[in-house]
Amino acid sequence: MPKDLPAAWRVSAVSAGEQVALGSNAARIENAPGKKELEVATQSLLSRLAELQEAFHADGRHSLLLVLQGRDASGKDGVIKSVYGAFNPTGVRVAAFGPPSSLELKHDFLWRVHQVVPPRGMIGVFNRSHYEDVLAVRVRKLAPETVWQPRFEQINHFEQMLHENGVIIRKCFLHISREEQRERLLARLDDPHKNWKFRLEDLDDRALWDEYTDAYRDVLAKCSTPDSPWFVIPSDEKAVRNYLVARMLVDTLEAVNPTYPAMQQAVRDAARDFK
Ligand code: ADP
Repeated sequence: MPKDLPAAWRVSAVSAGEQVALGSNAARIENAPGKKELEVATQSLLSRLAELQEAFHADGRHSLLLVLQGRDASGKDGVIKSVYGAFNPTGVRVAAFGPPSSLELKHDFLWRVHQVVPPRGMIGVFNRSHYEDVLAVRVRKLAPETVWQPRFEQINHFEQMLHENGVIIRKCFLHISREEQRERLLARLDDPHKNWKFRLEDLDDRALWDEYTDAYRDVLAKCSTPDSPWFVIPSDEKAVRNYLVARMLVDTLEAVNPTYPAMQQAVRDAARDFK
């Protein structure tokens, strides 16, 4: 049995239409367990995740798509590092979405996304996603409202289609406070191992903090469905963030209850002779 924290220690999915409070308070959890305790519990969850992934891969009925969204320095890379370590690398693929190329812009916005949706048996992690097309595109005014507004429904249809074809979708918004982002961006500027990551757009986006908050609130209200739910992960503390994502993934795969297929009869017969 993995060492675990109380059952209440998980985030629930955003309900359809819910107007989620996205202030600084929501980026932290009051009375969170200590860092050490959380790290130990996360390690147990990751071990469980490794077992579940092996069975999920063998079972092959579904794929799992984890979508990670969040502001700059919210910890998308950190979450990927944390969960990726648990997985057998042959069963997991990470896709990152930066500004679309000129070819991608000639296609519909879901074209580049659909190509990298994980096939059955695989786990896919999206570092940013098609949601940028209703976030960055809206906030930076890269397209008029007549273009981005219908995308909420288009996304819901797309995700429903994937769900009906065996893709289990879970989406995490890594929510950090404005103060925490400032600390992390300052640390990035001072660290030669990190400051190469800094881009002018990061500062532009920070100036548009409230506009992004509105855009994220709309995403959560309009695109969290029972089959493809959003989770808001309080992410000011990395240990809390990593624990809550791992907890949600374990819950998701346990609900699938993946099983190893039975050995083929011909192989069973041959094995008898082999022995
Ligand atoms: P990161 O900042 O996540 O490390 P990149 O710098 O490669 O990675 O790319 C992220 C940038 O790409 C972000 O500013 C994001 O808003 C932007 N981006 C991603 N998808 C789109 C899109 N569909 N349209 C416009 N900008 C996008």
